[in-house]
Amino acid sequence: MTIPTPPALPTPPPSVLTAKGTPRKIDELGRVVIPSEMRHALGITPGDLLDVQIANGRVIMARIEHSCLFCAGTEDLISFKNRLICATCNAELKSAT
Ligand SMILES: [Zn+2]
Repeated sequence: MTIPTPPALPTPPPSVLTAKGTPRKIDELGRVVIPSEMRHALGITPGDLLDVQIANGRVIMARIEHSCLFCAGTEDLISFKNRLICATCNAELKSAT
């Protein structure tokens, strides 16, 4: 099984790229708070989806862009196999098969 690579995100400011670890306690439900300065720097807001993966023994989280996988459009998005596709691209895919 392969884990799909999340779409590329804007490069965060160097201060966040080099941010040292901030100890955070995980609660009994497995939740952890991402420091607000990191959320702000990466544009993570309430309701955003985060892709969560394990890589080399580390948990990696990346914000999932709310845009079409093919055209980056943000209108009429539908989810297909955990990826977002706009209605226009979805119609093109259907007509191409
Ligand atoms: Zn599209």
